[in-house]
Amino acid sequence: MNHKPIILVMAGHDPTGGAGIQADIEAIHAMGGHALSLITALTTQDTRSVYDFKIVPLQQLRHQAKILLADCTPDAFKLGMLGDPSIVSLAIELLEQYPDVPVVLDPVLSGNLHGSLATPHLIDALLELLPQTTLLTPNIPELTALTADLSESEFFEAGLQFLLLKGAHRQGTIIQNELRSATGIIYRHEAPRLPAEFHGSGCTLASACACLLGQGLSVPEAVTRALDYTQDCLARAFAIGKGQLIPGRKP
Ligand code: PLP
Repeated sequence: MNHKPIILVMAGHDPTGGAGIQADIEAIHAMGGHALSLITALTTQDTRSVYDFKIVPLQQLRHQAKILLADCTPDAFKLGMLGDPSIVSLAIELLEQYPDVPVVLDPVLSGNLHGSLATPHLIDALLELLPQTTLLTPNIPELTALTADLSESEFFEAGLQFLLLKGAHRQGTIIQNELRSATGIIYRHEAPRLPAEFHGSGCTLASACACLLGQGLSVPEAVTRALDYTQDCLARAFAIGKGQLIPGRKP
C-alpha cells in the first residue's frame, strides 16, 4: 500500500469555502495527501469582506492536537491563520516534537479581503515560529508587517530555511514570485496576471507546498509545482457570490 502523505493543518474556517481550512483540505487532497485539521478560528466572511472572527478555546485545540498526534504521524505541517499569540505558542509546542518534519507557515494577517484576521501582537508571535519554519509564504503586505522589527536576513539567522515572496501586490501584467534563502534569490517564478480577484490563492499555494514537501520533494521543486498548480486553479476559478472568485482546486 502506498503511503499517502499526512499533512497537519492549523488554520481558520472561512464559511465561503474559498480560503482557510476548506481550501487547505481541497488542495492537499488534490495533491494526493490527507489533511488533519486543527481549526484555530471561526471567521465570519463572504466573498467581499471579513466581518469578524473568534479564536477557538486553546484548551480544546490542545486536547485535539494531543489526541490526534498520539494516533497519527504528520509528514508535514501547514500553518495558516493562527489568529492569536496563544495559538502560535501551541504551534511552537507541537512542532518541538517534530524537528525533522517540514513546516510551511503562511503568515495570514488579513487575507485578500478587507478586515483583520489577527489579534494584536500576532506579528511578534509569528516571528517566534521562524526557527521551526522550513518555508514562509508571505505576500508583500505581510512581509512588510513582519519586517517592521526584524530584517529578512535576521529571519534566516533565526533559522528560517526558505521564504517564498508572493508578488501579486506589485503592479504589472506578469506576477513575479521569488524563492529566497539565506544566500539570496534562488528561483524566480513568473505567471501572467489573470483578470480577476481571488479568495484563497495563498491557502491553496501553501497547502500544495506542504503536501509536496510531505512527499519528500525539495523546497524548490515543491514550490515550482505548487505555484503551477495554483495558477491552474486560478485559471479555473469560479464565482459563488458577488465578490472574489474561488480557485477551482481539482487534482
Ligand atoms: N485563512 C482564513 C481563515 C481566511 O479566511 C483567509 C482569507 O480570508 C485566509 C486564510 C487567507 O486567504 P488567501 O489565501 O486569499 O490569502
